[in-house]
Amino acid sequence: MLDAPDEQGKLATVRIQVDPRGPADTLEEELGEAARVLRQGGTVAFPTETVYGLGGNALDRRAVARIFVAKGRPQDNPLIVHIAEMEALETIASSVSPEARRLADRFWPGPLTLILPKSDIIPNEVTAGLESVAVRMPSHPVACALIRAAGVPVAAPSANMSGRPSPTAADHVWRDMAGRIDVLVDGGLTDIGVESTVLDMTCRPPVILRPGGVALEAIRELIPETRILTGADDVDATPRSPGLRHKHYSPSSELWLVVGEWESQVREIEKRAQAEARRGRRVGLLVSAETAAELRALLALESDVPENKSLKRNIVAAEVGSRGNLSEVASALFDGMRRLDEANVGIIFAESYDTAGVGLAIMNRLTMAAGGRVVRV
Ligand code: AMP
Ligand code: MG
Repeated sequence: MLDAPDEQGKLATVRIQVDPRGPADTLEEELGEAARVLRQGGTVAFPTETVYGLGGNALDRRAVARIFVAKGRPQDNPLIVHIAEMEALETIASSVSPEARRLADRFWPGPLTLILPKSDIIPNEVTAGLESVAVRMPSHPVACALIRAAGVPVAAPSANMSGRPSPTAADHVWRDMAGRIDVLVDGGLTDIGVESTVLDMTCRPPVILRPGGVALEAIRELIPETRILTGADDVDATPRSPGLRHKHYSPSSELWLVVGEWESQVREIEKRAQAEARRGRRVGLLVSAETAAELRALLALESDVPENKSLKRNIVAAEVGSRGNLSEVASALFDGMRRLDEANVGIIFAESYDTAGVGLAIMNRLTMAAGGRVVRV
């Protein structure tokens, strides 16, 4: 039985811990209870290779409704259906083109979501009334074992409160969702750190609605004509990806994205951080290790000169890995945003990155988090 909510509507969220490196059959056993909760229409948060997802039985409209309530997610933002076996694709999509099949064969299991015509077994609640459905096969051993053990396709958006940065650690989920969901499966840190690439296969050529864990370049190796919608400007022009209209990936404090040549970015962040901190505002820096090192020297954050006291007190840096290793930056980005929130900063300055490979997804998330606050230098 699922636990009923208390008088305040709070659920007694059960947290279980599993080792993703354990043998698949042991994992399935350990996840038996969580799988039962899914089959009974409950909500279960679990790690995937991208970010933590908040799952519900995709064939059960009441379970799907619970996901929307738990997240405070706008009703017009459809969910991704997660599967563990290729055969499940046929039951979820009413038709699968040869191109879609080739993409699935090449990138599944992995961080690619395909938008396909929906079959009748998928309730309208999953797709927000659209005739298409988003499907993906995750590669994370815990996600695979859970879906397999549940024996149903699992609808799962990211397991954060709507509008917040996606969770890349079980503690992120706990902070947002404790009391709002039935189970949290703690399987450690996620790997990629940004969400899946969403590719619309209902049009020709296919269009990337959201850049993510699979690079545009990799998709173009298979389908060279693949197009991309980028930035908030184009987003309003298309009704195809309803989710992109909403506020996303944002820390609570305002985030300014600095764009331009790296040296100029560093100088601009230095100037602005200094001005804000001297005014007594708490400043967050969402920066690479290289930029953090430069700024520490420029702002003399390590020195003991008295006039630097307010800077030292008011400037907090969240380092997100090396600029030379964008995978590192992707996996640390959302955690960095959350750490700055916890440090109670009033304003955040973020540097920008090259858009090759996963850099495109990083820049997309930063642009969305900035919500138009972009400084070009
Ligand atoms: P999330 O799982 O929270 O990371 O968000 C899933 C993303 O996929 C959102 O941007 C949705 O708008 C998008 N999505 C899901 N289903 C569809 C669909 N049928 N057509 C277009 N976009 C979709
Ligand atoms: Mg999300």
